[in-house]
Order: sequence, then structure tokens, then C-alpha cells
Amino acid sequence: MNGCIAVINAGSSSIKFAIYEDETALFRGRVEGIGASPRLRVADAAGAAIIDESLPAEGLDHGAATRRLLETAVALIDGRSVLAVGHRVVHGGVNYAAPVRVDRQVLADLAELTPLAPLHQPHNLASIAAIAEAAPHIPQVACFDTAFHRGQPDVAQSFALPRKFADAGVRRYGFHGLSYEYIASRLPEVAPALAAGRVIVAHLGNGASLCAIQSGRSMASTMGFTAVDGLVMGTRCGTIDPGVLIYLMDVYGMDARALETLIYRQSGLLGVSGVSSDMRTLHASAEPAAAEAVALFVYRIVREAGSLAAALGGVDGVVFTAGIGENDPTVRSAVAAGCGWLGLELDEARNRGGEARISSDASRVAAWVIPTDEERMVARHTEAVLGLVDAGPKAS
Ligand code: ADP
Repeated sequence: MNGCIAVINAGSSSIKFAIYEDETALFRGRVEGIGASPRLRVADAAGAAIIDESLPAEGLDHGAATRRLLETAVALIDGRSVLAVGHRVVHGGVNYAAPVRVDRQVLADLAELTPLAPLHQPHNLASIAAIAEAAPHIPQVACFDTAFHRGQPDVAQSFALPRKFADAGVRRYGFHGLSYEYIASRLPEVAPALAAGRVIVAHLGNGASLCAIQSGRSMASTMGFTAVDGLVMGTRCGTIDPGVLIYLMDVYGMDARALETLIYRQSGLLGVSGVSSDMRTLHASAEPAAAEAVALFVYRIVREAGSLAAALGGVDGVVFTAGIGENDPTVRSAVAAGCGWLGLELDEARNRGGEARISSDASRVAAWVIPTDEERMVARHTEAVLGLVDAGPKAS
């Protein structure tokens, strides 16, 4: 491949990017603090910081930040061409079950899905539009966080609402699909015995979810219609009795926007602890409420793992990934203790020592830590959609 693939992963206040050449990430970076005090950081292939500068906040929306990243990318790759830009897009709805090259119609379809992911979809589309305007000759590919789950059995995607709502798109979609797809692509190499088995993958970061995977296919997920469902997250509450929301409307006079702020931004680890949304800060805090928040985070993972084990009819392996899953032996240990009844037992020396396989030799269920890489998954899809290399996922 003669040139590079740029990958853009636009979140609510940050945009991550990476530049790939033949499966190698030459540069990774992010603009963070969009809307507050924006900062651009870029590291090279070895992880060494090469850019770390604050950007003027004035006028720096997601579109402007994306243009800035594209300029930065072009300067960094020093004469090589950007062959394509791949985007992580949160929602593909019912119709987009695979990555797709973006054209006017695709953009219009994706814009219609904005009400399904109001905090993410507009930022994803703003990045695509900014590149289409600045560099219309560069092809763009949208890769969806929902796509990996579209093959779940119907029953796993259904709510028990009147059918007309399901027909209108009110169903369980599931998210973090690019992360799960990447982990599924790694299993044949890292843990071949699990690749054809029943695996629960725990993506535990600021956003957190579990996915039940069988033979590389998503069977169920803790996230549903939106990415607020399921586990306790940094600032999201996870599963909540819908009656609570009606009560808050009746008794506290909260409207839809107030509830959205409450359940997406003020709840989860932050809301329960009153200290922080960040797991490291909670571990370091002496506040009893910080420990309670961590305990609730773990309890909900254990409860949902039981539910996914039932959906799979048993479990052969558990994989931990993302910021907490990859780096926090204390949380992994507590989750494993709660899943002991499933036949999971950690080897604590392996768990604390940062080894890849962390289960004991006697454990009936294997446990692994596998770092995720959503950007690499987007790069692979982008190459495949545009026919830049032989299609098909590659393990790395
Ligand atoms: P995002 O969903 O924003 O991509 P990440 O996957 O980066 O989030 O995860 C962020 C979370 O990971 C934070 O709660 C952070 O405290 C936690 N984390 C990162 N490193 C560690 C660590 N060494 N120990 C415990 N938690 C960690």
C-alpha cells in the first residue's frame, strides 16, 4: 500500500486520531478539551510525545479540530499521501451492518440516526463533513460501533414493547462493537482455544459494557438502545428501572434534557462517589463513598456477566480490555471473585504482574487481558472497503 490511512474517532469533547501504514500506527494523537481548553497531543510509533500544545479555544468546534488534525497528519507523514480516512461512527441503525464508503446519501442516512445517539453522532458526522470540505478527493469510510452486534439473534435485540416501536427502530443495538470485533480478531492468535468458544468480553473504560461472543460472533451485549444501558460507567448510570425516570419527571419536574444530563453526565462512578468518574482517583480516595462506587461498579459487572453466561449457555473464557480492564488488577480480581461460581479463578501473581493470561492453571474458565485497538479496526475496515489491501481481518 503506497500511502497512509488516517483514522478519526470523535467523542463528545475529544477527537482521537491515528495514522497507519501497512498495519503499523505511525502516529497517534488526540485533541482534547474541545469547548473548554483544547490541547493537541501526538505521539510517534514508539509512544514518544512529539506534539503537545494548547490550541485557541475560540471557534474550535469538532469540524475545526478535525481540519487541524488533518493538517497535522499531512505534515507528519512528510510527502506520503493520505489514501483514505476511516471514522468510528457510533450508530449505523438497522441498515448499516458493515462499514461503508461515505457519500451524500450515506451522510443523510446517518444524520437521520442522530436522535438515537444525540451526544455522539453529530460529532462523528461533523468530522466527516469537515474532511469532505477540506479534502473532497480523499475517500472516507464510516465504521459503526453497532455493526458487530447486528447479527445477534432477534430475541437479543428485542424490547417487549408493542411491535410498531421495534419496526421504527426502538431495539437493542449494542455499542463498543469495533472494540469487540478487534478482540474477536485477536483471539485466534492469542487464545486459540477461545476463538471458537463462548467468551464474555469486558470493555471497561469510561464507557463500559460486556459482550457475549460465540465463535467470533456477538450474541448479546449489556448496552441496548443507547450507550447508557448496562454497566455502571464513569458518568453514566447503566441499567435503571424506567419507573425511576417517570418518578423523577413527576416528582422533580425533570424533562427529557434534564434526565439526559443526569443519566449520562452526573451518574455512574461520579454520581455515586461524589468524588470522581476516574477509577484511579477512586482507588486513591479515602472517602467511603469512593469505595462504594467501585463496589457497585464490580457488582453490576458480576450480575451482568451471569446474564450473558446464560445467553451463551455457559462460558469458556473472559477477556478484560480498555482502560480499567487492561490496567486495574484490583477490579479484575473483584470481578473474578464474583464470577467464581462460573468456574473462574485468577492466578493473583499473573493478575498483578500484568501477564496476558491471568487465570490459574486449574481455572475452568480462562481469563485474559487483551488490549483493545478500535482505531486499528477502523483502519483495517477502511482498507478493505476501498480495496486497498486483501480484505478480511488480520490478527496482529
Ligand atoms: P475511554 O472510554 O474514554 O476510552 P479508557 O478506556 O481510556 O476510557 O478508560 C478510562 C478509565 O481507565 C478511567 O477510569 C481510568 O481511571 C482507568 N484507568 C486507566 N489506567 C488505569 C490504571 N492503571 N488503574 C486503574 N484504572 C485505570
